Amino acid sequence: MPLISLKELLKEAVENRYAVGGFDAGEHGFAEAIIQAAEETKAPVILMVPEVFLKLVAVDSFFPYLINRIRSSSAHVDLHLDHGTCYESCLQAIHYGFTSVMIDGSLLPYEENVALTKKVVEAAHAAGVSVEAELGHVGGSEETIMEGSVADERFFTEPEEAADFVKKTGVDALAVSIGTVHGVYRGTPKLDLERLSAIRSRVDIPLVMHGGSGLTDQDFKNVIQCGINKINYFTAISHTAVEAIKEKLQSTEGKVFYPDLITIALRKAKEAVVKQIEIFGTRPRSGF
Ligand SMILES: [Zn+2]
Repeated sequence: MPLISLKELLKEAVENRYAVGGFDAGEHGFAEAIIQAAEETKAPVILMVPEVFLKLVAVDSFFPYLINRIRSSSAHVDLHLDHGTCYESCLQAIHYGFTSVMIDGSLLPYEENVALTKKVVEAAHAAGVSVEAELGHVGGSEETIMEGSVADERFFTEPEEAADFVKKTGVDALAVSIGTVHGVYRGTPKLDLERLSAIRSRVDIPLVMHGGSGLTDQDFKNVIQCGINKINYFTAISHTAVEAIKEKLQSTEGKVFYPDLITIALRKAKEAVVKQIEIFGTRPRSGF
């Protein structure tokens, strides 16, 4: 199938009140697991390449590989740059044919985040590419597994500021900070649903929640009910794959061929993606 922009893909999610999963792939195996999960469920997915993982791959072969793989599959996929940190990395993804980019200016002063996001939006929209930005800041680490993080209320998204940000930047989707963190949680996460509803009532574009790993099925239902349409989910899937490898190594005392080991891990990863697609209520696109 041809790739689909984030804006186009989330249109039906907004209309029918479900969320589409944004799943990270830092290498070929997870990309395959995510695409296979989308093919199996017939549900759309957002295949995200995090900028922090680009040091692990050769971009000039990995990006064209992803695009060809998606085109040759039956799945509906938006190919997305996750946590782009600068204008140049967003332009690079757009150049290769990504259909959405995230520009993360969430740690910049407000006016600088507005200016950077606006600049990326202008370039992306000229190429038919959608843009996600972040306002407020979702803590934790996207790169390393830390001991565990707790959300800091000082970085939660302010509803009035969110409305102003969307108006000034023309962005297509907004990641909000409402109590989630990246990576592993320390303690039980507490989501500020009142704040989320207040943002939803002032902003008319799809809202995004990062840091989905570690939340309960009920948490997902609640945030979707309050207006989240894209959920980023990676740490728990990575954990599932790593655990599968550990178990196989233990049960065979390391006497296993690498392809067998990796196949088991990726099958578990695919099953974990399928499960989240079901929990998020993602439906096949109409006419599919
Ligand atoms: Zn994130």
